[in-house]
Amino acid sequence: MSKILIIEDETAIADLERDYLELSGFEVQIENSGDKGLARALQEEFDLIILDLMLPGLDGFEICRSIREKKNLPIIMVSAKKDDIDKIRGLGLGADDYMTKPFSPSELVARVKAHLARYERLVNSNVQENDIVEIHGIKIDKTARRVWVDGEEKNFTTKEFDLLTFLAQNPNHVFTKEELFKEIWDMESIGDIATVTVHIKKIREKIEKQSSKPQYIETIWGVGYRFKM
Ligand code: CA
Repeated sequence: MSKILIIEDETAIADLERDYLELSGFEVQIENSGDKGLARALQEEFDLIILDLMLPGLDGFEICRSIREKKNLPIIMVSAKKDDIDKIRGLGLGADDYMTKPFSPSELVARVKAHLARYERLVNSNVQENDIVEIHGIKIDKTARRVWVDGEEKNFTTKEFDLLTFLAQNPNHVFTKEELFKEIWDMESIGDIATVTVHIKKIREKIEKQSSKPQYIETIWGVGYRFKM
């Protein structure tokens, strides 16, 4: 069942949209303020977002921009003012569709279905292109950012994932902590090379059978680390 988030401060409109969407078999969540809506959109997995332009807290412009930086899903923007719609269209915020209120609920449902179908086609056409790194019993799907160890999926934080992937893609190459820090943390000035040690430890706990006797990520004393082929 597709899950939809409605970010709309007018509760009557939000409820009406939800009722129609639920009748069409969608699961619907509502947030009435901009900041809560954005937080929810980023934290949870939704298939589509219906976003009002004028909201208390953050407005629809900001929300759309912030979601686009992190997520790829259809966003339908709605506004009471036709002028605003023309303006935001021109800004190229990355919304997939724009609707002027009031609109008929059945029109909304039709557009929701069309966008979900289009995204599904996009996702399916990309399935073959997933970039996979396999080394020993570890399988890394770089596209989906998922990792399996001996067939069992493990969860990694963003930096743990980046570090593991980098090492696994360069097996037998010894990297210093400084090199790894520069490679993975790059421009972020916060933190220091001790962060690398901490992350290596976390990764080992997830991939090694015995993290005290690592088989995969080897410590080269006084130098750094390497992923053993
Ligand atoms: Ca509003």
